[in-house]
Amino acid sequence: MTQEPQDPRTVVISVDMEGVCGVSSWVQVSPPEFGGLVSGSEYERARLRMTQEACAAAMGALEGGAANVLIADSHDTMRNLIPEALDLPEHWQERVRFVSGGDRPLSMVQGVQEEGVAALLLVGYHARAGTPGAPLAHTWNGFIRDVRVGGQSTGEPGLNALLAGHYGVPVVFVSGDDVAVAQVQAELGEEVVGVAVKQGLSMFSAVHLHPEHARRLIRAGAKEAVQRALRPGGSAVQLYTTAWPASVQLAFDHQARADQCERVAGITRVGPVEVAYTAQNAFELFQTFRMLAKVAEVRLNG
Ligand SMILES: [Zn+2]
Repeated sequence: MTQEPQDPRTVVISVDMEGVCGVSSWVQVSPPEFGGLVSGSEYERARLRMTQEACAAAMGALEGGAANVLIADSHDTMRNLIPEALDLPEHWQERVRFVSGGDRPLSMVQGVQEEGVAALLLVGYHARAGTPGAPLAHTWNGFIRDVRVGGQSTGEPGLNALLAGHYGVPVVFVSGDDVAVAQVQAELGEEVVGVAVKQGLSMFSAVHLHPEHARRLIRAGAKEAVQRALRPGGSAVQLYTTAWPASVQLAFDHQARADQCERVAGITRVGPVEVAYTAQNAFELFQTFRMLAKVAEVRLNG
């Protein structure tokens, strides 16, 4: 496939699954191939709604003026989107591509490094680890308790926004549960258009909108966000960044994970379950973070 030069109105849509309408349990977001806490039928339904929400955001982005859309499947194996369920009118199909498969250089925001990307949309996102009343709140995996950048607690939206900011791309839209949306707006700015598709009750429950209504809201919100981002004179949304070099601190659920991480060059033990490092920029911050998340993957049953 030849890569066409990108129009400077390309929009990247990063789609996670925990924040999709109708999802409130790990059972619904766990691909059956790994066994464990799964229900094949519930997962299949949830990945269809995930695909439909991605589609709704893509249509909104195109209506808002995007020339091209790149959808990045960003949950777990990153092979959740159902290609044949990307239900778009024929004249839009040639303007929408999608990234599928894991182990990607930029993970959840693969594509923001491409030339001509004007905005990043976050769909199906969830609140950061430790957030009460937020369905499936976590950061990256099940064992990171907290991530602090420059002393500020952050989660997946913040980490991805920093990485996108490194490439000059602002986050302009977020959908997910109401707590996640409020958290993102508090962190990245109130001008980020937010669409809550459910109201969080607890870690494993929510009051959901009708899924079709949720998709209409996502489409309208994405359109508004992209229109604003492409408005002549520049984006209303600021690039997300921090003061560099930045101190980054990770807190784990178990000291054994910090034991592993402190053996890595440049990583300092700063508490019983905490390690820290200094990042020169968001790319370095992100890649070291990903590496530590792997290093910390130790068996805790001896
Ligand atoms: Zn996910």
